[in-house]
Amino acid sequence: MNNIFDVVVVGGGASGLMFSSLVKTKKVAIIEHNQKLGAKILISGGGKCNITNEFVTEKNFLGNHDFAKSILKSFDQNVTLRHFHQKGLKTIKIKNNQYFCEKSAKDLLDILTKESKRHTILLGEELLDIEQNRDIFNIKTSKRELNAKNVVIASGGLSYSSIGASDIGYKIASKFGHKMVKTAPALVGLTLQKEQFFFKELSGISCEVSIKVGEQICKGSLLFAHKGISGPAVLDASLYWEKGEISIDFLPDMKLEDLRSSNKNISTVLPMSKRLAMAFLTHLDLDDKKFSSLSKSEFEKLKIIKDYRFAPAGTFGYNKAEVTKGGVDTSEINPKSMMSIKCQGLYFIGEVLDVTGQLGGYNLQWAFSSAFVAANNINKE
Ligand SMILES: Cc1cc2nc3c(=O)[nH]c(=O)nc-3n(C[C@H](O)[C@H](O)[C@H](O)COP(=O)(O)OP(=O)(O)OC[C@H]3O[C@@H](n4cnc5c(N)ncnc54)[C@H](O)[C@@H]3O)c2cc1C
Repeated sequence: MNNIFDVVVVGGGASGLMFSSLVKTKKVAIIEHNQKLGAKILISGGGKCNITNEFVTEKNFLGNHDFAKSILKSFDQNVTLRHFHQKGLKTIKIKNNQYFCEKSAKDLLDILTKESKRHTILLGEELLDIEQNRDIFNIKTSKRELNAKNVVIASGGLSYSSIGASDIGYKIASKFGHKMVKTAPALVGLTLQKEQFFFKELSGISCEVSIKVGEQICKGSLLFAHKGISGPAVLDASLYWEKGEISIDFLPDMKLEDLRSSNKNISTVLPMSKRLAMAFLTHLDLDDKKFSSLSKSEFEKLKIIKDYRFAPAGTFGYNKAEVTKGGVDTSEINPKSMMSIKCQGLYFIGEVLDVTGQLGGYNLQWAFSSAFVAANNINKE
């Protein structure tokens, strides 16, 4: 194998494969330390991959909104859908706005892989280090050395190390003088303090909630889990939570006052699972009596259901987190090209950057949009 390439792509995941499928340059190598491409694509969206969302704006992301906006605009959700539909992918819309693969995430991976096959694919090969001599990068892998004019770092974040996640992208960024934004697990369950341990007995129950984290409101279902709380609303809340209190409204669509005159028992009249209602009553030291018979102070006590505040102990960690928030600081990346402002020819795309989406297909959309911008820039060169 001739070891001189126009572009070396580090990572055969969503962004690396999308880039490889779009780039027209002839001599491209993809380095992937797994034995197969796209391991995370296959487990995304429960095996069906939520590839994008009907409504995508920069507000669905944590990170620099101006930076994200210009990149998302270059390859938006409609272009993404059209792109994959033209290549034969069948999608279905779920919950009115989330687009999943109709059959399996493998269909998406097959399209991306097929388009990338014209390149040199180095599987089971780990990127160890990159050096730059004049305009050429020297890329050291676990098996060989390569040279290239351009390097695209598409190595993702730290979530799910069991399927290949590593910190190599951050190490390379730091080596080339890039600032980093502190990383943390995101789109992940939250663990509890002792005072909320009564939640653990509710393991398996889910309910609709609205969670307030700082200025953000995250609506959706909450799932009581053995280790803490999870479910879509909690995963979204974890994106914005750093430390300190969150507030959960367990009756998001109603006022407690509307039940004031009911002669039914509290656990019957509260529109939530009886087990959850009973757990709250025990926690609040209230009897399960007729709602109308609650004294003023008891009623005030019960109002906690609408504004249950506590500081989570932490998160379920990187190995359960769908994404990693933080990463390479976007102030040193050119949003028109995804190229480093510090180092000519060095590109960063996908999750390795400090742009993290909410639940709902936003992270794959980010991987595709950022990959397009980088490929488009190299195609123009
Ligand atoms: C369980 C789960 C479900 C998800 N579901 C969805 C969903 O439905 N919709 C959505 O939008 N997002 C979802 N996500 C998030 C989404 O999958 C990621 O944000 C996206 O795949 C990131 O793409 P990426 O290319 O930046 O990184 P990745 O897809 O993680 O690719 C990085 C690649 O780099 C490789 N690599 C790392 N280090 C090295 C090294 N040293 N040498 C060589 N190769 C290396 C890795 O093996 C990996 O293949 C989910 C994530 C998880 C974990």
